[in-house]
Amino acid sequence: MRKMMMQDAYKVLEAVFGYTTFRSPQDDVINALLQSKDAFVLMPTGGGKSLCYQIPAIVRDGVGIVISPLIALMQDQVSAMSQAGVKAACMNSSMPPGHNNEVERQARKGELDLIYIAPERLTLPQTIQWLNECQISLFAIDEAHCVSQWGHDFRADYLQLSLLHEQFPHVPRVALTATADSKTREEIIARLGLQQAAVFVSGFDRPNIQYRIAQKNQPRQQLLNFIQQEHLSDAGVVYCLSRNKVDATAQWLSAQGLKAYPYHAGLSKEVRQQNQERFLKEDGVIIVATIAFGMGIDKPDVRFVAHLDLPKSIEAYYQETGRAGRDGQPSTAWMVYGLEDVIKLKQMMAGSEANEQFKRIEQRKLDAMLGLAEITSCRRQMLMAYFGDTMEEPCGNCDCCLTPVITWDGTDAARKALSCVFRTGQRFGVVHVISVLRGKLTDKVTQFNHQNVSTFGIGAELSESQWRSVFRQLIARGYLNVNFDHGQVYLSEKSRALLKGQETIALRLDTNASKKKSSSSGKNNSAPVSSDDIELWEALRICRKRLADEQSVPPFVIFHDATLKDMVVNKPSTLQQFSMLSGVGKKKLDKYGDEFLTVLANA
Ligand code: ADP
Ligand code: ZN
Repeated sequence: MRKMMMQDAYKVLEAVFGYTTFRSPQDDVINALLQSKDAFVLMPTGGGKSLCYQIPAIVRDGVGIVISPLIALMQDQVSAMSQAGVKAACMNSSMPPGHNNEVERQARKGELDLIYIAPERLTLPQTIQWLNECQISLFAIDEAHCVSQWGHDFRADYLQLSLLHEQFPHVPRVALTATADSKTREEIIARLGLQQAAVFVSGFDRPNIQYRIAQKNQPRQQLLNFIQQEHLSDAGVVYCLSRNKVDATAQWLSAQGLKAYPYHAGLSKEVRQQNQERFLKEDGVIIVATIAFGMGIDKPDVRFVAHLDLPKSIEAYYQETGRAGRDGQPSTAWMVYGLEDVIKLKQMMAGSEANEQFKRIEQRKLDAMLGLAEITSCRRQMLMAYFGDTMEEPCGNCDCCLTPVITWDGTDAARKALSCVFRTGQRFGVVHVISVLRGKLTDKVTQFNHQNVSTFGIGAELSESQWRSVFRQLIARGYLNVNFDHGQVYLSEKSRALLKGQETIALRLDTNASKKKSSSSGKNNSAPVSSDDIELWEALRICRKRLADEQSVPPFVIFHDATLKDMVVNKPSTLQQFSMLSGVGKKKLDKYGDEFLTVLANA
């Protein structure tokens, strides 16, 4: 019996989804569910969590109930399933009145494979009553970290989901999340009663994402160069810390001829919805956003995520950058950061009114993020280590691997910097301390008589920007602390050994990364195909967009970029050949095969 069901799973993989092999651990998860076992699945974004419940829901008798907090997304998920020929529906408060009744009726009659439902709706007594009248194949609890108060997206409604276990003890449940930290994991298992569940954890690496962190000098211009040189007409997300900066950046990018729209909590619901809609449905839209944007966005073909401000933790950084390249195609996580970012975040931490324990945790998280920004070896190795995965070799796909960082012996400079902070009384900001080091007679220097301190002018050999680099690294690495009030710097315990000459320090040599990148990558086009095929690629995209518009669905619901790329590479000329492409199942073959073959034939 069991074997037979796994065979069915392979058939569905091929006929419905158009894929030939499972990605680990999809097959194991599916196998567990087919055997009516509960499962807990931890996979990175883009790892392929959806198939883990979609396939068993199709193979098993009855309807699969998918609980998801992302109402805005449900319709797209249903569209994607329908395109593949799966009978799916959704139930949430945004649906017209008669809709939910109709879904209930169809489910009772066993006419549906999948229902996406919002948690607040699922836990209503009448919903439970209705579910008791249906045959249910499984419960899938998507975004399961929402049950955790420790995590970042807590939803009170999720707490109620423990009732599934009590009310439907024989229906297998699968909880899925991309959130890695162990505390959240423990909380999910405890709160959802998943102690008996089989646990599946896949590696957290996202090899298709290229991680790059460069020094900030003219952030907007650097961003524009990056987009123009590497991601012109690609979809992307740009994160900024404040609403004002979001608005200004979106405006500026638009003025440069890009399709960029803002997204933050200060905009009206209509505007937000409209901008999100454009992002999903039009090609090459850039969303400039605060962190308010992202959770509800399952767009698979986001080609870049850019940060103009430093996130507060590696968790946040990894989650935000993880929105790039869910389809597994090459993508870029790009960030610029500088001395001001370090000072601003350190200052915010110092002024935080949270309790001591919480502050310590926050501080440690920020320090890890700064460590990642300043690291001179492979960034991915550090990221993986942070999440408890070891990577033996450097990745070859981060800026540190691609352009090895040069370090210099900064011991002497660091000592000068630290003693100058000390000699001027540890109550000034970095700008003033640099003036003293460089022997500049500014108003402030004369006001405080700092031309008379012993460190005045001892650092004339380094330029202002070189000193800024030294200070950034000293602060980021904890040799200097930052005061909350005005960002004054003062010595930390750690600086003592360095000052006393018991320790040396190697510093990063900052270079103008944006310049270097353009010459190294050099290509002026972002299409993932060779230059001979760009016209064909564009023609296929236009065909996809037309078909999507006709049905008011996002283009990726028709075919993912990976499938279009497969068309360009293999140039099928018959339906039989077309059916072999990754992502082409039976239904899509019938529906779209001829149209795309025509485009291919005319190329
Ligand atoms: P997640 O929910 O984990 O973020 P998705 O379920 O959206 O990821 O899947 C990410 C991408 O991977 C989708 O484009 C999906 O079609 C593709 N995918 C999933 N499983 C497979 C597979 N076995 N073979 C090929 N592509 C797959
Ligand atoms: Zn690397």
